[in-house]
Amino acid sequence: MSDAPALHVLVVAAGRGVRAGPGGPKQYRALGGRTVLRRTLEAFAEGAPRARLRVVIHADDRALYEAAVAGLDLPDPVIGGAARQDSVRRGLEALEGAEGDVVMIHDAARPFVSKALLDRIEAALEAHEAVCPGLPVTDTVRRREPDGAAGETLDRDALSRAQTPQAFRLGPILAAHRAAEGREMTDDVAVAQAAGLCVALVEGEAANVKLTTAEDFQAAARRIGGTEAMEYRSGSGFDVHAFGVGDAAVLCGVEVPHGRGLKGHSDADVGMHALTDAIFGALAEGDIGRWFPPSEPAWKGAASRVFLEKAVERVAARGGRLVNADVTLICERPKIGPHAEAMRARLAEVLGIDAGRVSVKATTTERLGFAGREEGIAALASCSVALPEDGA
Ligand code: MG
Repeated sequence: MSDAPALHVLVVAAGRGVRAGPGGPKQYRALGGRTVLRRTLEAFAEGAPRARLRVVIHADDRALYEAAVAGLDLPDPVIGGAARQDSVRRGLEALEGAEGDVVMIHDAARPFVSKALLDRIEAALEAHEAVCPGLPVTDTVRRREPDGAAGETLDRDALSRAQTPQAFRLGPILAAHRAAEGREMTDDVAVAQAAGLCVALVEGEAANVKLTTAEDFQAAARRIGGTEAMEYRSGSGFDVHAFGVGDAAVLCGVEVPHGRGLKGHSDADVGMHALTDAIFGALAEGDIGRWFPPSEPAWKGAASRVFLEKAVERVAARGGRLVNADVTLICERPKIGPHAEAMRARLAEVLGIDAGRVSVKATTTERLGFAGREEGIAALASCSVALPEDGA
């Protein structure tokens, strides 16, 4: 073995990240102009230059992955499995037979791993079978009884909060994962322990957080982007749908009882369509028809939240955030007022912003024109999006 044997780093990026709110898998969201995954990979490239990086991705995320790693010299990603443990096992199998026997397994959503931590883990691995960074528990910890009562208080000095990267020798951890197949465990240390491996704890780092919730992302953006300049862009959208047979109209995600429904390829939610176009407009990324061609049978009868979610996902992918949205529905009937609050709440939920940033209002055209003759409903929407100033 040479002085500096290969150090394999398996970056697990196959999760869906649903707890981080709308905007697609969290590891592909931009943080200060770079995706979380790219930041994580660059942290390893900087902190452990001899690391050989290999990323495990979800089969659906190949395009997101290619965009995130553009310009980095990486081998093909490994396609993960249904659960994290399956993804890790597949990643380890892809490394089987490679030169070098040390592997670090790391969550893609921890982009702040430091050189000091990597050095500490590597040093400890010289004397141990496996190494896990851990943090002390500072809060008092106690059991929660099934009836909701407070139970036994635990000795927090005897507890440790696990982080990644967790480091192992390749052969034993691969064997441990194969032996654990079908038994779901909480992390790779648990898998190693189930196979009888002894895992040493080293001091973790408070900054090495796993980005899980929308709040984690906001805190991370503040931490790295305190000086990052944002610019504000506005967009507008307009849409019309004609009345047809039916007994309700879906408007801003709310089913409003009415003697007629709205005709359209999807659910004909004229409010959501206008707002979706407003967001695409602010991003200068075309319109709803470009992203969801009406010729595509998949969108027939579709709930329009799918379209709006795509626009929100694009804002997140550009490293931006939606500041506010304003929708005006133009019709004589149905009366919008009684439903406006429900519509605001519904839009806010899909947009992933506070309802205080969402407005839904209505007007008539004094019985003039198609809206006045109650032949259909029109909707106007505008929005403001904050984007990093260096964004294209
Ligand atoms: Mg439409």
